[in-house]
Amino acid sequence: MADYEIPPPEPKEIDEKNWLELQHFIDRAVLRGHPSGDERCRNCLYYLDTDADLTYCWHPQIRILVGENWWCQWWEAIPEE
Ligand code: SF4
Repeated sequence: MADYEIPPPEPKEIDEKNWLELQHFIDRAVLRGHPSGDERCRNCLYYLDTDADLTYCWHPQIRILVGENWWCQWWEAIPEE
């Protein structure tokens, strides 16, 4: 057993399935990993925790974790109070 080497990590079938599903989702949502001008997730109405770098997007078409500098076509300004 001394010669046993731990195999390097690699994606499993479930990862490829998830990736394919997310890829369709990304295409549909025009979800991008960078801002669009001044618009970005962190200043969007649907970004749940504006103090966090990564949080949940509660837009009905998204509903996943997103990063503060991401952007999608459903960006909406936070209404001024
Ligand atoms: S709706 Fe789009 S822009 Fe707004 S937080 Fe969600 S993913 Fe980001």
